Amino acid sequence: MKPYWKTGCPKKPRERGYTVFNFTYLLIVTFILFSLVFLFSCESIPEDETGPTKKEGKEINEEEEEEAEEDENDKKEKEKEDKQELYQDYKKKLPEEIRDLPANELGEIMILMYHEIGEPEAEWVRTPDNFRRDLEVLYEEGYRLISMNDMLDGNIDVPPGTTPVVLTFDDGTEGQFRYQEDQDGELIKDEDGEPVLDPDCAMAILKDFHEEHPDFGLEGSFYIFYENPFRQRELVERKLNELVEWGFEVGNHAYSHRNLSRLSEEEVQKELGKHVKRTREYLPGYEVRSLALPFGAWPSPESLAVSGSYEGMEYQHEAILEVGWYPANSPFHQDFDPLSLPRVRASEMKVDGTGIHDRIEQYRNHPERRYISDGNPDTIAVPEDKKEQVKEDLPGDMEVVVSD
Ligand SMILES: [Zn+2]
Repeated sequence: MKPYWKTGCPKKPRERGYTVFNFTYLLIVTFILFSLVFLFSCESIPEDETGPTKKEGKEINEEEEEEAEEDENDKKEKEKEDKQELYQDYKKKLPEEIRDLPANELGEIMILMYHEIGEPEAEWVRTPDNFRRDLEVLYEEGYRLISMNDMLDGNIDVPPGTTPVVLTFDDGTEGQFRYQEDQDGELIKDEDGEPVLDPDCAMAILKDFHEEHPDFGLEGSFYIFYENPFRQRELVERKLNELVEWGFEVGNHAYSHRNLSRLSEEEVQKELGKHVKRTREYLPGYEVRSLALPFGAWPSPESLAVSGSYEGMEYQHEAILEVGWYPANSPFHQDFDPLSLPRVRASEMKVDGTGIHDRIEQYRNHPERRYISDGNPDTIAVPEDKKEQVKEDLPGDMEVVVSD
């Protein structure tokens, strides 16, 4: 069959021929161009990249980042609003003797020292009920939890009129963090197959209390030793990870709880460095920032408590916690010494007038000694006559303001 432009079609055969030729030509050129573009773009996509090209990916990443940033800002804004709402009239809830006191962020802070939580009450054992009562009294008396690391960083974010307090737990005893077991020692599981916290262990008591009183805070530092912190061997890794996930801290208490004053320099470094090493095996990259001296005993030389090394593992403690008997200075006070932090025993036995409830009673009579927050973590609010006592090297760009 002849092509139709050769059939003698009367209507402008050349023009139509040209048009058809042009159309075919265009199709071919377009096909080649598309093929080239396709080949080119195939080459520019790395094998492992199945989604958008790098450039598009980058734009999407930037968009995602912007969105995440906006979300973060929204969250912060919301937190700020919630805080303002919570802080409005907050002081009305506080005991009379501190309600009208000016903020004093140079005042004293108790670092409470717990050991076992269990039965019966003893010198180094607090019963679950007494522990609950401690939390209740602290809350009612206007104390709010901060972590040890927040104290070191001067990051004290508690409601106006309240006093920060630090909880520390030594020895990683079972009653501090325990999952329930049946009579045969098998873990009791919930309907999702997860182990169940013993409601009488410190961790469960703290979490439950926080649920009822969210403004109390949920913080605490656990000064554990090895091999078996919290005494459920198969759960060590799980517990250490949960502990950090829930916002608590792990501190050094020497690898095997030996009395550092009786060890050689090499042995001291082994006790302290091996602890950090083992902790990082469970918690990669975790920074162990503070040491609670076992038995309150210093090594010789004392500098080995602060830094040293064991098998290539360097340890560096920013704070050393001792055993008794006093409240600590504010981290903004010129006399704050993180390398010798006193603690208050959270006990009522053999405390000789220096235990938790003695101190709370003393503060009731001398509330002016307490750290009293202004509710703003970015400023250091101090009464006019104490301004001179603010230390020189303040963290970040914190500003000192006079309270009234
Ligand atoms: Zn100990």
